[in-house]
Amino acid sequence: MTQRRLTLSAVALLFGAWGFLPEFTVTLLNYIGLYAIVAMGLVLLTGVGGMTSFGQAAFVGIGAYATAWFCTAPAGAALVGLTPGSAALPWVGLVAGLVLSAALAWLLGSVTLRLSGHYLPLGTIAWGLSLYFLFGNLEFLGGHTGVSGLPALAVGGLTLKSVRELGLLTWAVLLLSLWALHNLLDSRAGRSIRSLKGGRVMAESMGVDTARYRIKVFVMAAMLASLSGWLYAHLQRFVNPTPFNLNIGIEYLFMVVVGGAGHLWGAVLGASLITLMKQYLQDVLPSLLGASGNFEVVVFGLLMLLVLQRFSDGLWPSLARLADRYLKNPSRAVSAVSGVLAERILPPRGSVVLCTTDVSRRFGGLMANNKVSLEVRAGEFHALIGPNGAGKSTFFNLISGVDRASSGVVSLLGRDMSAQPSRAFASFGLSRTFQHVRLLGARSVLDNVALGAHLRGHSSWIASMLRLDRAEEAALMSEARRQIVRCGLEAHMYEAAGSLALGQQRIVEIARALASQPSILLLDEPAAGLRHQEKQALAELLIQLREQGLAILLVEHDMEFVMNIADRITVMEFGQIIAQGTPAEVQVNPQVVAAYLGGIDGELTL
Ligand code: ADP
Ligand code: MG
Repeated sequence: MTQRRLTLSAVALLFGAWGFLPEFTVTLLNYIGLYAIVAMGLVLLTGVGGMTSFGQAAFVGIGAYATAWFCTAPAGAALVGLTPGSAALPWVGLVAGLVLSAALAWLLGSVTLRLSGHYLPLGTIAWGLSLYFLFGNLEFLGGHTGVSGLPALAVGGLTLKSVRELGLLTWAVLLLSLWALHNLLDSRAGRSIRSLKGGRVMAESMGVDTARYRIKVFVMAAMLASLSGWLYAHLQRFVNPTPFNLNIGIEYLFMVVVGGAGHLWGAVLGASLITLMKQYLQDVLPSLLGASGNFEVVVFGLLMLLVLQRFSDGLWPSLARLADRYLKNPSRAVSAVSGVLAERILPPRGSVVLCTTDVSRRFGGLMANNKVSLEVRAGEFHALIGPNGAGKSTFFNLISGVDRASSGVVSLLGRDMSAQPSRAFASFGLSRTFQHVRLLGARSVLDNVALGAHLRGHSSWIASMLRLDRAEEAALMSEARRQIVRCGLEAHMYEAAGSLALGQQRIVEIARALASQPSILLLDEPAAGLRHQEKQALAELLIQLREQGLAILLVEHDMEFVMNIADRITVMEFGQIIAQGTPAEVQVNPQVVAAYLGGIDGELTL
């Protein structure tokens, strides 16, 4: 049995048995469904995207209150030209809730998401609290008493009066959202979303607008929460502020963390566990302890601590590993349909691709780069060498938009790039690797390399969610495979990138850079950690790339490697260029000899 079959069977079983389950079970399942919808958005936001939010309950409240107002206030019906009591009002409420929460998330996100570290979760607590108190203080929303008398939902003539009827809709919404988010994560957009957690500098260099992606993820999580609030309101037929307070916001986060923050199904697992556990504790504890009180909260907290101690990634990964033993692995069939990727026209051989004029970078009192001027031409192999601390990596960051120069001009293909972010450099054909490897360690080599081709695809998130992007996705994957084979890593294609030797991880970075079809490639110490044979293979690959007309700028400590293949060499020391020329010229330059023999490196073979 495959994973897919198992899932489909479980879903079929659930819907088949739905009519026969006891009322109490159905009620519990319904709550699990409602919680899981919110938790799923939180998985995307927190577990996958790395943004912790304590405030999701407030968005559930917006969804619930929006529909409550439109369905019960005469002014709500009048606003949209409907008569009070019309069956269309809940749907107006749904749309209003979604629009309102999306708009608010966009607004709050653009302020809060700029915060880093602990400030972001603190920010979410702040607006979570504010919105909760706002619900209680708005007279037209019934204050702390709330709004009652909400109608039951009607879908195509069917009125969903009972928990059993509405629960079907809840689970249909949950499963459809799961499917859509699963598709999203398994796409070009998904690879970028996964890089938001810990890989933003890298992702920007691959052309991903990470700030925009973060806000979009935030908005999506808020809309899912709002959707859950809408269903909740029409289940309870009554809305007050209590279920949208900060405690519940924390509980949603617990569900995600306990279930498995990085996995969509972890949301369902976490929501189930916590709902069942709370129910059970509430029933059992008072009789066990012979006294009534909120003991369940105490025990619940202790259990949470235990689970987090034992399963720091949540329970889903352990469950999935167990299931993997009995399930067949899905075949890695290469899709037959394939779209066409955007192709870049390389600049003519010999033309200047990258040019810097008097570029300086000051860190406090230290001039890490001091008036560095350099040109790299198409079809040229240019090496940048110099002792440790000379400023080479700093220079790489300046010419790839990762860092801003304090003064001077960086131009790429004749364009002044001074105020541009690194993704603009990427879109104009510059691609780079990092001295300290920046890969998504838990993702496969294939996934990592495919991220490099980000700018060559265009599918929207909606298209990805509906799997309308499959032709493009196949083309991106086939391009990634091609680069992996070209770099000699095909044996490791499906392995987690973080499990490779460090030298090989550097090669994965080169493959990722090549997947963008660059006109200029920046390599920061690509040969470090490679064995002799691997270095030779790398040299051959680089020579082949130069033949194709690529401009290559490389920082490297291995002098034999550099002297053998570089066309031109620039030598830096203390942030300044001390020599420039062919390998033969540089090797006999007295200043260079002094820098190397006087320095700690002393690796220059003369
Ligand atoms: P290289 O790559 O040639 O070994 P770097 O560019 O990494 O050298 O560093 C050049 C100098 O700038 C070093 O003295 C380093 O300590 C300093 N430096 C680099 N990055 C920063 C930073 N972000 N803040 C302060 N100093 C820095
Ligand atoms: Mg360096």
